Formats: sequence, C-alpha cells, structure tokens
Amino acid sequence: MEISIVGSGYVGLVTGACFAEVGHDVICVDNDDRKVKTLQSGIIPIYEPGLEELVHRNVAARRLRFTNSIEDGVSNSQVIFIAVPTPPHSDGSVDLTYIERVAREIANVLKSYRVIVDKSTVPVKTGQKVADTIRRYNKIGVEFDVVSNPEFLREGCAVEDLMHPDRVVIGTNSERALALMRTIYEPFMAPVMVTDVNSAELIKHAANSFLALKISYINAVSVICEATGADVEKVAAGIGADKRIGRSFLNAGLGYGGSCFPKDIAAFIAISEQLGTPFNLLKEVQRINQRQLERFVKKLRDTLWVLKDKRLAVWGLTFKPDTDDVRNSVAVDLVNELCREGAHVTAYDPKGMAKIRELKLCPDARLVSSPIEAVRDAEALIIATEWPQFENTDFSEIKRLMQTPLIFDGRNLLDPKTMTEFGFQYYGIGRGLPAA
Ligand code: NAD
Repeated sequence: MEISIVGSGYVGLVTGACFAEVGHDVICVDNDDRKVKTLQSGIIPIYEPGLEELVHRNVAARRLRFTNSIEDGVSNSQVIFIAVPTPPHSDGSVDLTYIERVAREIANVLKSYRVIVDKSTVPVKTGQKVADTIRRYNKIGVEFDVVSNPEFLREGCAVEDLMHPDRVVIGTNSERALALMRTIYEPFMAPVMVTDVNSAELIKHAANSFLALKISYINAVSVICEATGADVEKVAAGIGADKRIGRSFLNAGLGYGGSCFPKDIAAFIAISEQLGTPFNLLKEVQRINQRQLERFVKKLRDTLWVLKDKRLAVWGLTFKPDTDDVRNSVAVDLVNELCREGAHVTAYDPKGMAKIRELKLCPDARLVSSPIEAVRDAEALIIATEWPQFENTDFSEIKRLMQTPLIFDGRNLLDPKTMTEFGFQYYGIGRGLPAA
C-alpha cells in the first residue's frame, strides 16, 4: 500500500516506520522544515527504543521518505493518516486547529479518491467535522472517506506496541475504506475491531481515562496504606492478581503525567460537559493525581523541615522511563516546585537531558550528566522517574557522597529493606513509615 502520514512526531514517525517495516511505501509529511531536514539527514529527533534502526533500514530500502509537501503525500498515496497534535485549551477542551488545518490542506490538493484516517486523539464527532471541512474546501467534489483509527501506543515501547498491537480499532461505515485499512493492518496479524466513527473516537478517550482512573485508584489506596502502615505494593499485587482487575497501571507514585493522560482526561470531562452529561468521576481522578504531588512535597517538608537552601538530588525528568519526552512530566513539575521553595536542585535523566533544555525548567536547577554527580553533597535523593538502571546504582557509593542519607522514592522503584540495610532513611509511596 502507498501511505502518507501527516505529522512526524512520536505517533506519526513510529507509525510510518512500522508501516514501512511490514512492506508498505510510506511518506512522512511534516510542516516543520527543520524536523524534515533532520530526518532526511538520518537523524532521529526523538528517542524511542528500536526506532533509529527501523527508520534507517526502511529509508535504505526506499520504503520510507520524508517531505514537507502535503501535496506530495496526498498525490502519492491511497491512504492519508493524520497524526498532528491535539493540545488542550485552558478549559480542558481540545484545540482542533491543527486537525482542521490539515483537513483544509488535504482538501486543496485532493484530486481522486483517498481514505483520510484520523490517528490523532480527538473528541467524538471530529471525523464528521473533518469530512465536512474536506467537502467544503475541495473545489472539484472528489470522493473520499474519513476513518477513525485511534492509536494506543505507549511511549517507551512504541515500536513494540505498533508492531504487536492488542487490537486495531477501525471506525468507518465505508466498505471501500475498510478494505484498504484491512490491507494496511493485515501484516500485523492483530485483532481488528470495526466500529462506526463515533465509537472509535470514544474508545480512545474512554481507554485513557480508565487507565488514569486505575492510577488514581491505587494512589488513593496508597494514602490509606500510609495511614495504617500497610504496604501498597503488596495490596496492588493482591488485587492485581484478580484477572478481572489486572496488575498493570496499579503503580502508586507521583501520579500520571505526559502529553496524553492529563489532556485526554481533561478532554473527556469537557466533552461530557458539552453534552450535558458531566463525568464527575473523572474530576476526582484529576484531583487525586494533583494531590499526589502535593503530598509528596509535604512529605519532603515534614522530614527536612525547611526546603529553602536544601541540596536535593532528583533522578529522572522524563514523564516515564525509556523515553526522552518531558512534556507535562510530573518530575518537571516537582523540580519546579522545589525550586520555588528555594531548594538547590541537581537533576539527572538518562535520555531527557536534550529535551529538558528546550523546556521551561526552573533555571536554578542544575543539570548534570550522571546520577552520581547529582547526589554529591545532597541532603536527599528523590526518584521522580522509574528508570530501571537507577536500581543498579552503587548505593554504598551514593551514601558516601551524600550529606545526609535520605531517599524519597516517588515511584516505589527501590526495595525499602535493601535501602535501609545500606543505611538510608527510605520514604516510598504508601509503604508505611520509614524503617529507621
Ligand atoms: P508530536 O507533537 O510529537 O508530533 C506532531 C507532529 O505534527 C509535529 O512533528 C508537528 O510538526 C507536526 N504538525 C503539526 N501541524 C502539522 C501540519 N499542518 N502539517 C504537517 N505536520 C504538522 O505529537 P504526538 O505525540 O505524535 O501526538 C500526535 C497525536 O497522537 C495527538 O493527538 C496525541 O494525543 C495522539 N497520541 C499520542 C500518543 C503518544 O504517546 N505521544 C499516543 C497515542 C495517541
């Protein structure tokens, strides 16, 4: 199949590379000239495990190329995927200007039948608006179909998720479009679920909201664990072993962040309110998430008494491990809050350092190039992102370098017993009081 993908970000680029890997001819379109040039020169602007090799292999095989011309993409493909941003407005509703603009741009260059697929996360009924827009701006009345095909990849394992999806959701009422979509996804051998466009759009917002709900649920349980001396890790294992519940997304911590969950939950709330059927449960999910960070900072304050002028080491800045993405990262919010209180923060992240420099991190925070460097003379070590390599650090060396041996583990990454044996005072989330 000949496919083009408009938007070469985390979703568009990985999708394009995976489609090429299974044998399709893919054109990735982006209106950021710098990004297109970077990609054309063989440099991958994001970190995602396995992506670099995948892109290089498929570019060399001439199955994948990059352009800034939407006309090139539209004229040389049968199916056009839209993977542009859908950021939130300040009231939580979705800013659809990127989608609307792409719809107009496609309409202006559309000369014969094409399938236009929305892969971006959009509010229910957006597909209808995309179709209306294309119809309005296309001067020659070309036939086309608009399909919803939400993306469920997780950053950090996006290639794996795209190559082996749990399911592929295709929202369409057109047999012609469905046949083309099935051909695209056939090599992935994944279960295909066919729905109408509105249901497909809803599936994505409902799925992300449910996952966020699971995170907030276990975080709320962690508060009760702290009040009673129970261990939330054991509670999560106990309830997660029930197949009806499942263990995933039951990880107590600083709460969810990133470019998707906060905006998608806010969007679902806004959609429900616009429809006159407020989804108040999700407001509580948001509140619990917000309180997790506040509670963590309070825990620091309760122990260190005053945060002003304290030397604090922070490990992890990305919103989750195995990515370089720092957008809406709770770790970043934490660093900014600690700086606001006058602490001297030294921060390290394995992959997020380049992206963090482009972001608004408090200028008082010092970025260093190793976890060891971060803890020198620190009065506390904070784990803000659960990068697995942090577990394998030499903690006797860490203890020797720190001024006072305190660990605040915002992701329950470390084993409290082992840390206590190393001589640290260890504070996790929902793990009762520190042992000593
Ligand atoms: P991103 O910001 O990483 O990438 C978007 C790309 O679109 C950018 O490269 C930008 O330059 C390009 N772009 C913007 N307007 C354009 C236009 N008119 N023409 C061509 N290119 C244009 O965003 P992302 O993280 O890939 O997310 C894209 C969509 O996918 C969002 O709706 C998001 O909610 C959804 N999504 C994201 C993830 C994720 O984990 N990041 C997962 C599932 C779904």
